[in-house]
Amino acid sequence: MPTKKTLEEIQQAMASLQTSFWSTLRLKATHFSEMVLRLEQGDFTLIQEIISLAHQLAGSCGTFQLPHLGLLARQIEVNALDLSRQTAPDLMIVQKLTEAIRVFVTEVEKGSLEPDFELKNQFSLSESRQDVWLLLEPSTLRDELSAQLHAFGFEVRTFVTYQECIIELRKRSPALLFCAVALGNEVLFAQYELLQTVNEKQSSLMVFSTEDSFELRIEAVRHKAQGCFVSPLDIPSMLQRISKLFDESTYSDKKVSILDDDLLLAEHYGWVLKSAGFEVQVIRDPDEVIASLLTFKPDVLLLDMHMPAFSGAEISGVIRQYDSLSSLHVTFLSAEHDIRQQLQALSFGADDFITKPISNENLVTSVKLRLARNREIKSLIERDSLTGLVKHGAIKDAVLSEFDRMSRSGEHFCVAMVDLDHFKNVNDSYGHATGDIVISTIATLLRKRLRRSDRAGRYGGEEFLVVLPKCSAADAKLLLDSILDSFREIHFSAGPQHFSCTFSAGIVCSSANYSDAEAMMKAADEVLYQAKHRGRNQVQILAGH
Ligand code: GH3
Ligand code: MG
Ligand code: MG
Repeated sequence: MPTKKTLEEIQQAMASLQTSFWSTLRLKATHFSEMVLRLEQGDFTLIQEIISLAHQLAGSCGTFQLPHLGLLARQIEVNALDLSRQTAPDLMIVQKLTEAIRVFVTEVEKGSLEPDFELKNQFSLSESRQDVWLLLEPSTLRDELSAQLHAFGFEVRTFVTYQECIIELRKRSPALLFCAVALGNEVLFAQYELLQTVNEKQSSLMVFSTEDSFELRIEAVRHKAQGCFVSPLDIPSMLQRISKLFDESTYSDKKVSILDDDLLLAEHYGWVLKSAGFEVQVIRDPDEVIASLLTFKPDVLLLDMHMPAFSGAEISGVIRQYDSLSSLHVTFLSAEHDIRQQLQALSFGADDFITKPISNENLVTSVKLRLARNREIKSLIERDSLTGLVKHGAIKDAVLSEFDRMSRSGEHFCVAMVDLDHFKNVNDSYGHATGDIVISTIATLLRKRLRRSDRAGRYGGEEFLVVLPKCSAADAKLLLDSILDSFREIHFSAGPQHFSCTFSAGIVCSSANYSDAEAMMKAADEVLYQAKHRGRNQVQILAGH
């Protein structure tokens, strides 16, 4: 995430790119003027050069906050293309072309149009906030919600009136505002300042209503609410929604590579994405593209379509020859408006298209959307759909590779086997669907409370395996005890009935000298069995550790 200091650096870098862009623009305008003279003397050999220069400018001017110049360049390109298609030059078109170039050159020479560069607020995004504000009438529901959010590790603040919340919003903003649509005589959708501020500060909004209606849901969508909950509130499903929302902002797949022959433009895109929290690699030399991708391992490659030595389509074809790059998402970034050309380029193995010019904001959104889609596809393959955790095979692999790492580095790690207590009773008493909610809730809790380097997987139906690198048995016990404390606090409901659940866990540490990872997992299972035997609802570590 960019800190304040790096944000300043980013602003400086982008301002200096803007200045460089102006200098090159002046050079290009001079070049254009010379070309007009040659056109007027009947020299049409330079028409391809005009097309390619105009094409490039049409794609880049908009990005450097000069959209009107981009449109003028597009006009040059269109006329030059017209001319290039003719066998004998039509003087009318030649005149239109020279006129279009003159207009462009005059605009550049005015120069006074140079905009002040300003990196808008929207890019000073995402310090990773994890706080939730509840704007709800005092009630047992609110207390319950607050307690459970605490159990999941969120910071919670409560407000009773819209006014009170607005005053605080002017000073700071939460990651999420969970808000009643009516409080006393007031309604949320008439609170313009509140809604606007939430939007501007990029806080997420979820709304809660005592009654369901289509109008309510439409209003919620209009105000970009990320969730619309109706009474009686299903707290576990709401918690799951919230966790998912926060997971998105903490995902680590944020690497973007950019290859564009217009280096200024590539650098500019690079800074825009950096300021939004992405890790960025600008590839300067197309010959080095494969080597660069193999070392940086990006999640998305933004690839220019027209480059002097190779086309983007060709490069994308080469990328697909490498197995390890086969899942890399390739997006063309191009000023190409011709749909046939776009489709043809896609046939070389790229995934989709972003059309230049693109605003900073849209660039960030587009890249985010692509990453989200990638993630979804990956998780369909690797993850269990009920819990979102990795499946049996993948979590076992995590133990194997952690065991290998420990053998080399000597750094010990723990494995915990977690199993819900008397879970059969839950299914029998409240139904399988309610049982599913309990399973997904413990999964959410594990995800939320583990460190980034920790791993949790669904080992079996209601059994989970947790891998804790660089962790002693005592620390692992503290952690799982605290997760168990939180889990006990979570109240589930099935119609009018309320209940809570517990789990048992067995922990082993690699310091006990297991012969291999399998032996370690088997031992964890045995310790879990002891915990069950001793009365469940507890965490055991292997005796003597
Ligand atoms: P113990 O405390 O000894 O672990 O008792 P238990 O009832 O939890 O253990 P047992 O292994 O007898 O039962 C586990 C139950 O979990 C049986 C199975 O139907 C249920 N289960 C497994 N997977 C799922 C699932 O995905 N959804 C639901 N709702 N239930 C599941
Ligand atoms: Mg069980
Ligand atoms: Mg079991």
